Amino acid sequence: MLDLTTDVVSLTTALVDIESVSRNEKQLADVVFAALQDVSHLTVTRYGNTVVARTHLGRAERVVVAGHLDTVPYADNLPAKLEGTRLYGLGACDMKGGVAVALRLAASVAEPVRDVTYVFYDCEEIEAERNGLGQLARKSPEVLAGDFAVLMEPTSAQVEGGCQGTLRVDVLVSGKRSHSARSWMGVNAIHGAGAVLARLAEYEPRQVPIDGLVYREGLNAVGISGGVAGNVIPDECRVTLNYRFAPDLSEEQAFAHVREVFHDYEVALLDSAPAAMPGLSHPAAAAFVEAVEAEPRPKFGWTDVARFTELRVPAVNYGPGDPMLAHTKDEFVEVEELRQCEARMRRWL
Ligand SMILES: [Zn+2]
Repeated sequence: MLDLTTDVVSLTTALVDIESVSRNEKQLADVVFAALQDVSHLTVTRYGNTVVARTHLGRAERVVVAGHLDTVPYADNLPAKLEGTRLYGLGACDMKGGVAVALRLAASVAEPVRDVTYVFYDCEEIEAERNGLGQLARKSPEVLAGDFAVLMEPTSAQVEGGCQGTLRVDVLVSGKRSHSARSWMGVNAIHGAGAVLARLAEYEPRQVPIDGLVYREGLNAVGISGGVAGNVIPDECRVTLNYRFAPDLSEEQAFAHVREVFHDYEVALLDSAPAAMPGLSHPAAAAFVEAVEAEPRPKFGWTDVARFTELRVPAVNYGPGDPMLAHTKDEFVEVEELRQCEARMRRWL
């Protein structure tokens, strides 16, 4: 049984000590569900190993506070250990500290100024199709509806707005196959790739200001393949590109941009994931940034905030723990950061 009235450090310790490596979240989801069910001001629903708790005060705004229950695999880092100002253990940083803060708020803020939907979900650290938040977004998007969302991933208690989108394409260079002893009869596609690489080297990526944050894009070759045999002039070469794009572009627009840059080549889309707008101009977001006293900065990776953007809910990352420590064997969270995040989120709600 989880005690949600205990302080945030003890609660984080308790959460870390219930091992919940991805696909093994059931026990943790069970105790989280049971603990929240005892809170009279919340309505609690379970979707597999995802637990959703909501207030129903009829407030003008609704905000979503979300965190994943799972961790990366065990690395000889259980049980949790308090050493000086730091709490060590599997998931202490990514992101049971953030989950503990959210649970504390869920249990103790009975009359928030904004209605709150708390989401504790499974399978964030593994393949995207299993992601509990993604599944909920597909099956019951209304559950995630809100004016603004905070994903409590580790950010060292900074506000990270939005995230860049990402897509990968193959640029196809074609030539004409021939025997290498009569190379003048053919056209060498691998040589042709040189022009593609030169264009990438000259390409000037955009720096896009949105809501006061600057997103730095990148268009880069991340792979190259070609060649038929040791005595053949190759007729095809593929250069794989990765485009990290700012949130002012949709996936379609980003793909169109890459096609435009390589308009004289065949360009095949391999995969893509959307960017997320920081949405910091929304009043609920502005109030959040003020309450947590953090200088917003852009997020350069891809995170689950993009799932909220797809649902038209502006979202940020904000939580205790240094993101550089996530997924490391020696991950820890500063006790002070746990307390600070809780106090500031409480002020906002
Ligand atoms: Zn995480």
